[in-house]
Amino acid sequence: MRRFGLELPSTLAECLAVLSSGNGDIKVVAGGTDLLPQMKNGLIKPTTVVDLSGVAELKRLEVDGDGALHIGAGVAARDLELSSIPGPAFAAVVEGAGVIGSHQVRNLATVGGNVCNAAPSADVSPGLVAMDAVAVIDGPNGRRLLPMVDFFKGVRRTALEHGEILVELVVPNPGAGSGGTYVRHTPRRELDIAVVGVASQLTIRDGRCTKARIALGAVAPVIVRATAAEAKLEGQQVTPELIVEAAEAAVGSASPISDQRGSAEYRRHLVKVLTRRTLQTAYDRATGRAASRNGAH
Ligand SMILES: Cc1cc2nc3c(=O)[nH]c(=O)nc-3n(C[C@H](O)[C@H](O)[C@H](O)COP(=O)(O)OP(=O)(O)OC[C@H]3O[C@@H](n4cnc5c(N)ncnc54)[C@H](O)[C@@H]3O)c2cc1C
Repeated sequence: MRRFGLELPSTLAECLAVLSSGNGDIKVVAGGTDLLPQMKNGLIKPTTVVDLSGVAELKRLEVDGDGALHIGAGVAARDLELSSIPGPAFAAVVEGAGVIGSHQVRNLATVGGNVCNAAPSADVSPGLVAMDAVAVIDGPNGRRLLPMVDFFKGVRRTALEHGEILVELVVPNPGAGSGGTYVRHTPRRELDIAVVGVASQLTIRDGRCTKARIALGAVAPVIVRATAAEAKLEGQQVTPELIVEAAEAAVGSASPISDQRGSAEYRRHLVKVLTRRTLQTAYDRATGRAASRNGAH
């Protein structure tokens, strides 16, 4: 690995000052579980690495007075998985964090790193998109908010501009009658990357679906919403037949490639199967028929 300078800021202001100094090729590191392998393999060769692990402002994990969940970019996946703070209302996001790598990886891996690495197979990102989360970004031109659905620009490319960092993710309060989940397919239970990952979130009021969100991972360069499938559900009474119809419609939103993990055809099949399963679980949770992973509805 090429030699590099290491900066250890302890505040967000210090961190932003280093990033805007413009000296050479600067990269931030959180848990390092994506960045360090990329550096070791020579894919990136930063001259300076800024370690975010001492920046307290990136460690916020709380539900605010409006019921929105704030996840600091520096919160470890394992801390999110084990915390009772998010509660079952945010299952689609928490379940994504809970399947990353292994216990050891999740102790290092941060939620911000998962999102900013922008791998199409990232496990937290579909839940964030399905729950209409917003990215809080800070940088030389001040703070800005960006819906997560607009955050991803391509494989390993995000909307972050030069000198900007992700501060936190804000997941709006889904409200009563809402439920969601994230499920991925991997040949191995642990230490494997999603062949396809699907997050679904449904809101059911007076027996009808008032809001549907379905986010697909690992089937396109970025996380995509299955909008045609969502449209089939919104305004309707959700039946098993309608769930099958929506799952079939979701396939049209996927543009998968064939690689060593699976063929494009297999991935399209998985989109149908996982969309059906996640919609059923989301519906059951929204209507109180099934407990979430954390034991409540
Ligand atoms: C053995 C192994 C298994 C894995 N399994 C999975 C898996 O099952 N599912 C999965 O999704 N991922 C998996 N990963 C990938 C990785 O662990 C996750 O993506 C993890 O969440 C990355 O977080 P990190 O803190 O380590 O990021 P880092 O490696 O520190 O950073 C990743 C990228 O994000 C940037 N970055 C980090 N924080 C910020 C910030 N606040 N603002 C701006 N940019 C930032 C960095 O500059 C870098 O480009 C695995 C990795 C390993 C090594």
